[in-house]
Formats: sequence, structure tokens, C-alpha cells
Amino acid sequence: MELETTQVAIIGAGPSGAIAAALLNQKGIDVLVLEKAIFPRFSIGESLLPACMESIRAAGMLDAVNNAGFQFKNGAAFNREGCYISFDFTDKFSPGMGTTFQVQRAAFDKVLADDAERQGVTIRYQHEIEAVDVNADKPLLFVKNEQGEPYQLQADFILDASGFGRVLPRLLELESPSCLPPRQAIFTHIVDKIDDAAYDRDKILISVHPENHDVWYWLIPFSNGTCSFGIVGEPDFFARYPGDHIAAIKQLANEEPWLEKLLANAEYPNQPGMIGGYSANVSTLATDKFALLGNAGEFLDPVFSSGVTIAMKSAELAVNSLSRQLSGEKVDWLNEYEKPLLRGVDTFRCYVEGWYKGTLQDVIFYPNPDPKIKGMVCSILAGYAWDTDNPYVDEPVRRLDTLAKICAET
Ligand code: FAD
Repeated sequence: MELETTQVAIIGAGPSGAIAAALLNQKGIDVLVLEKAIFPRFSIGESLLPACMESIRAAGMLDAVNNAGFQFKNGAAFNREGCYISFDFTDKFSPGMGTTFQVQRAAFDKVLADDAERQGVTIRYQHEIEAVDVNADKPLLFVKNEQGEPYQLQADFILDASGFGRVLPRLLELESPSCLPPRQAIFTHIVDKIDDAAYDRDKILISVHPENHDVWYWLIPFSNGTCSFGIVGEPDFFARYPGDHIAAIKQLANEEPWLEKLLANAEYPNQPGMIGGYSANVSTLATDKFALLGNAGEFLDPVFSSGVTIAMKSAELAVNSLSRQLSGEKVDWLNEYEKPLLRGVDTFRCYVEGWYKGTLQDVIFYPNPDPKIKGMVCSILAGYAWDTDNPYVDEPVRRLDTLAKICAET
């Protein structure tokens, strides 16, 4: 069998893989990306956070993304039982970009991957990783190419950016249970035909089910008059809506009064999707031979649209450590990659758990917030979950609990 070599092999050309590849290439490191699909390909995860624009900028891809015609996004709006609250991300506490985009991921991921190639990265599409050996001095990947022929790739280091494919967690038995209960989402792309002047297309709209506050809807507008529309709940909840998913989506839309009004003329021309059991974790995020990026590591929950931001942040952090290791320095992957990455992931974890417990909903729907505190919460919603100058990042659990108590009592 043919044996090839590279310094860094990246599994997957989604956001984490493309950003990592461009950053390594900028540092003059030899990198090869192996992607099992052909782009463009569908992916869930369409609402970005401003913080990820900083990673896109670092990877030299800002012009490509800015010029791709995606829907501008400047915030998030929340709707529960007639109460409407919006966060403008430019009011955030942390420094950094305050706006971003809502994107059809097929197009967005192709923009990133194409730009990585323009910068000099090689991406091999329809090359699938089937097995791995990390016991030898240098890790070895067993790959099947587009003709179905096998070959081996030896690398100094592997970055697993395979998303929900979770290649190394599966092959190396790194999977561990998520802290969150299994939930599922049904979703589709609709022609929204929204003509309500009160509807703000520059924000994602998160609506809470009137009777089940742990069930929520996303409405993510795109720049072409369509929206991504989805509902998230526990499997028991969806069991009440058997049969056709489009019928279930329409019925659920009609159960929330403002969505019923907004989507009264919507058309549902596309097949719905369903994804469940997506929350996942691992026993380790990195060793001196591999690191897990983005969803190949831990995935929490979609409610705050944090997935792509975490994926890109993990790419930046891993590349910083990896470039030092490749130049001969000893890297402590636990303290220099895993713990710094988990700092922000744990901030989001606290907010996700607070959302489903109801404490964060008490904070979000509080009618008279202190603008400074709202700005600090807004920073986290904008993705700046690693900024420890923000007291709500520095001590997320204690601060959120205290704030929620104050909001619930007044
Ligand atoms: P991916 O984007 O999944 O890319 C992985 C790539 O690896 C794919 O192209 C795949 O083909 C390739 N691959 C897989 N296996 C192999 C293999 N064996 N060999 C070679 N290549 C392989 N995030 C947000 O930021 N905003 C949102 O609004 C949002 N909404 C979401 C809604 C739901 C219901 C869910 C479940 C998630 C949502 N997410 C959202 C999360 C988001 O989808 C992910 O966090 C993000 O796509 C992760 O990027 P990635 O680069 O890690 O992986």
C-alpha cells in the first residue's frame, strides 16, 4: 500500500479544519486536509457569532466571507409568551467584532475551504479516514481515496476536525457521556414570506414554546428570502407529533402565537431534517500526537449558536500549541490547549444549563436590566466566552445564579 507523509494531517474541511489549515499554512507548516464529502455539502449550524469573525480574520478569510453575500447579523432576539427581548451584539462588554452573518453552511463552508486552497492549502475531497494507528512514533492514517483505493498517510500530528463524524473519538474509544440529556431537532429551509415590519432580519429569533419552556424554536433568516426554521426538544416531546415532520413543524409553529403570525404565508418546499443525540463529549481533547477540534471534541447544544465559534477557537488554540511543538518545544497539551479551550466551553455550558433550568430565561426576559450587566451577558451571547475580564466569564456559575435570583425576585 502506498505511504505518503505530511507534517500535519487534518481530518475534515469544515470550519475547524479550514481555519486550522490556513493558520498552519501561514506559519509555513506542511498540511494536508482529507475530506470525505464533495463541497458544497449540507451542514446544520447556520447562525454565526461575532467572535468567530476574529478567527476568520486571523485565518486571512475576512474578505472572502464579507464578499460572499450572506445575511448580515447584529444580534439575537428572544420571544416568550408575548415578551420580546433583543440583544444588539455591538453593545457587548468585550472588545472585538460586533456583527457577523447567518449563512447557508453549504456555501459558507465552501467559501472557507476555497479560501484555504487559494492560500496554498491542499484539500483532497472524497478521501475518507477509515482507521488510525497512534502507537507508532508518528501517527498513521488509513485513507480511502475517491476511487475507493486505500493508502496510508504518516503525519507528525493529526488534527481531527471531522465534526459529528467524530473519527478519532470513535476509532480510539475516547467517547464519554455528555453532561446534557439527549435532545433532538427537526428543521427545514422555508420561503418565509414574512411581511411584519416588527420582524428584524438582522437577528436570529429564538422563541420559547408557550407550554414547554425547555422546547424552543430557531428562525434564522438568510439573504435570499428564505429562513432556516427548526425546533429543539427532548424525544418524549416530539413523540407527541408522530408522522410527517413538515406537518409537525407547521403545527409547532402554530402553537407559538408570534411565529404563527410571522409564518402565516410561509412555504415549505424542502425536505425536513432531523438530528438527535448530538450532545457529545470525550475523555481527552489532545495528546502529543493528535488534537480534537470543534465537534470532534465536545458538542453542547445549539441554543446559543456557539458551535462554529468553538470550532474556530479550538483551531486557533491548537495551531498555537502545535506550531511550537513542531519547532521542537515541549507542549503540555492539557494545560496549554484543553484547559484554555474548556474555559469558554464551560461558560457556554453554564448558559446552556441555565437556559433549560429556566434561570437564564429569567435573566434574558427580565424587563429592566442594568445596561452594563446586559452588556456582559451580551458578550457571552456574541461568543466572547473566553474573555476573563468579563466577570460573567470569570465566574459564570456563581454570577449567573446570583443574577437569576435577583431577576426572579424583582
Ligand atoms: P463540521 O462542520 O461537521 O465538519 C466536519 C467535516 O469532516 C465534514 O465536512 C465531514 O464530511 C468531514 N468528515 C467526517 N468524517 C470524516 C472522515 N471519516 N474522513 C474525512 N472527513 C470526514 N453552530 C453554530 O455556530 N450556529 C448554529 O446556529 C448552530 N446550530 C446548530 C443546530 C443543531 C440542531 C446542531 C446539532 C448543531 C448546530 N450548530 C450550530 C453546531 C455546528 O453544526 C457545529 O458545531 C459545527 O458545524 C462544527 O464544525 P466542525 O468544523 O467541528 O465540523
